[in-house]
Amino acid sequence: MNKAIKKQILAKIEEFDTIIISRHIRPDGDAVGSTMGLYEILRATYPEKRIFLDNEDYSNYVAFLGDEGAHPTDDDYKNALIIVVDTGTIDRVSNKRVQNGRFLIKIDHHIDKKPYGDLSWVEEERSAAAEMIADFYETFRDKLVLTEKAATCLYAGIVTDSGRFRYQGTCGDTLRAAATLLDRGIDIERLYASLYMDDFSVMQFDADMTKRIKRTENGVAYLTISKTLRRRRRISQEDASNTVSLMDGIRGSLIWLAFIENDDGSIRVRLRSRFVPVEELAGRYHGGGHANASGATVYSQEEAEALIADADALLGQFRAANPDLF
Ligand code: AMP
Repeated sequence: MNKAIKKQILAKIEEFDTIIISRHIRPDGDAVGSTMGLYEILRATYPEKRIFLDNEDYSNYVAFLGDEGAHPTDDDYKNALIIVVDTGTIDRVSNKRVQNGRFLIKIDHHIDKKPYGDLSWVEEERSAAAEMIADFYETFRDKLVLTEKAATCLYAGIVTDSGRFRYQGTCGDTLRAAATLLDRGIDIERLYASLYMDDFSVMQFDADMTKRIKRTENGVAYLTISKTLRRRRRISQEDASNTVSLMDGIRGSLIWLAFIENDDGSIRVRLRSRFVPVEELAGRYHGGGHANASGATVYSQEEAEALIADADALLGQFRAANPDLF
């Protein structure tokens, strides 16, 4: 798919001596895995080029994949090719200097609401941006070098964003990409131990939060975690945010929402769903993302309640039209 664009991207990679790779803020497994995977492939293939990852925030969850190395200088930017991966809009890039390069490429699988970049390769139906990088490698495997580290990073991106190959975007291409990566020799047991094992205190926090899940009339499940609660329990923003997955799988709750208060008082909303698209709903509250996994921000309790009411109405309509669906 999209061979012509991929060829143009490879030509740009070959043309530039300095390449800087960025991803979205509050990175997840795919944001880190896809960018680190691309970084490793390019470094192994072009040892003579200056290749950087440049981001301003990090994830503890996938920190085991390794650190992101030295940051480029302002001078490095002047003649650089910038590649942004897994980021739908330019304002969500975790890098204020992202527009300071000479040429900008976007590689992404989010809904393309606000296109950006001099060259853009977007496939919204892809399970993960890491799947696209694996596909890029596969397309030019006679030219590119896939190290075991690159394969591990890309595989981590695919398994986290596809919900371990469970979500809608998972298809033959996903499994073919995974097969290519596995063939490179990934230590699966270590990878899954790193992804699944949690501190005991986080498990206890999750157990307590499970008891606080509420449901609306039509079945929207939601959970609110204030910054006071987060601080009192000494839980990181990232671990608090992960509580969204506690609501995944409640029969009848085809939409579920986590409201996590940020340090500045704004509230990060994580929207998840089965069958019912929530991206448009997220868009009404300063957000966006994918059909069944989106993010948004609200700035008051009233706005949070309005979002819950909208989600409830959305699920109510959906259930009326699909009475037999879970
Ligand atoms: P999150 O719940 O933050 O993990 O977000 C779910 C998905 O939506 C991820 O793929 C995010 O990159 C994307 N997303 C989160 N917040 C926004 C936003 N404000 N605008 C666009 N996409 C978002």
